[in-house]
Amino acid sequence: MPSSMTSLQTTPARSVSDPSLHAVYDKVVAGERLTIEDGAALYDSSDLWSVCGMADLVRRRMHGDTAFYNVNRHLNYSNVCALSCTFCAFARKRGEEGAYEYTIEEVRKEAAAAASQGATEMHVVGGLHPYHPFDFYTDMLQAIHEEAPCLHIKAFTAVEIVHLARISKRGRDGAEGIRSVLLDLRAAGLGSLPGGGAEVFDDRVHDEAFKGKIRGDAWMDVHRIAHELGIHTNATMLYGHVENRGERLKHMHLLRGQQDAALHEWASSQGIGDGSEVVLSGPDANYPAERLPTTRTCDRGWYQACIPLPFVPDDSALERLYGPSGVENLRTIAIARLMLDNIPHMKAFWIMQTLPASQLMLQMGGADDIDGTVVWYDITKVDGCGTHQETGVQELHRVLREAGLTPVERDTLYRPVTRDGVEWSVD
Ligand code: SF4
Repeated sequence: MPSSMTSLQTTPARSVSDPSLHAVYDKVVAGERLTIEDGAALYDSSDLWSVCGMADLVRRRMHGDTAFYNVNRHLNYSNVCALSCTFCAFARKRGEEGAYEYTIEEVRKEAAAAASQGATEMHVVGGLHPYHPFDFYTDMLQAIHEEAPCLHIKAFTAVEIVHLARISKRGRDGAEGIRSVLLDLRAAGLGSLPGGGAEVFDDRVHDEAFKGKIRGDAWMDVHRIAHELGIHTNATMLYGHVENRGERLKHMHLLRGQQDAALHEWASSQGIGDGSEVVLSGPDANYPAERLPTTRTCDRGWYQACIPLPFVPDDSALERLYGPSGVENLRTIAIARLMLDNIPHMKAFWIMQTLPASQLMLQMGGADDIDGTVVWYDITKVDGCGTHQETGVQELHRVLREAGLTPVERDTLYRPVTRDGVEWSVD
């Protein structure tokens, strides 16, 4: 009897009907790392339910039936941008219809409003503004911090960080320039970096869809330096435009390698992995101590969450494309969960996936996080939505409970939040 059949009979996951997935299934059950070829088999299989079943197995090993959300506010401080990425429907030139810019005072008011409504996090990103000086960005962080010191400020994609290095004349200083920008921002109140701007780490895709933006290696350099400084980050993958599935798998492979380096020291101290690979998604017996790094057990930064983002063609220069289907979205998040075995959290970002699809992704597709209450998100408008996209805690609870999951409010660092109305605390 092939070993895959033995595993099928002795593990709790759903059976795998596609023989081409038996070897992958055995690896998942044993907690072994998947190869890019394994990822291709997961993409090629018509047995989507088995792909999801495997993702659900590792998601439940890592998080049980917990479904994370947070109470957050997004602030897109300006859509004025020096670049014109073909997939972007957000950016405007200054003076163009629809262009906007927040003043520092307006930012201050947003922070006060967020704190008064009980938010734990302010998520701040914008275009690459061609005229704001570097001080504008530190002033903005300081204003948020002064007005609402309880808010964790998650701000600026790696693309913006490189832009800030350039406008503060540190662009030619390489890693040292990035490091000194991050230190200045942290001194002004920065808590962590979001994962935007990664798109797909491939030069062909870069040159076709977002030429002018930094390439994947520069994006990863910013995150590596942030991790070295103890700053946590996230990682996105914007897919479903001009890239192919193989390029998505390469993107995941590169992220996973960088996370191995970020977690190396912590994993060695925990007896996890073989010194080069860190797998966090295996069976319980593989983790005699902690399964996942926490701020208590690891003082370096790392990728906390991966957020696969489906491309939304509307109003972009790539409007001729269809964008990914619901099935492709479900399959991609499940494969990301399986491939990214060392990234603790997989987020179904409801703003772009929609709430109903995110619910499915949490229930059966390997996701454990749905993002937050949001209020205002101007980067992407899913068909029929205006810029005001908001949901309440009650609605998130309903969606997660209907999926058979236990909602747990988290802060930006994934610490459980204890809440009494707008008052909250973490241990
Ligand atoms: S994706 Fe970002 S960098 Fe590119 S045009 Fe839009 S706002 Fe500017």
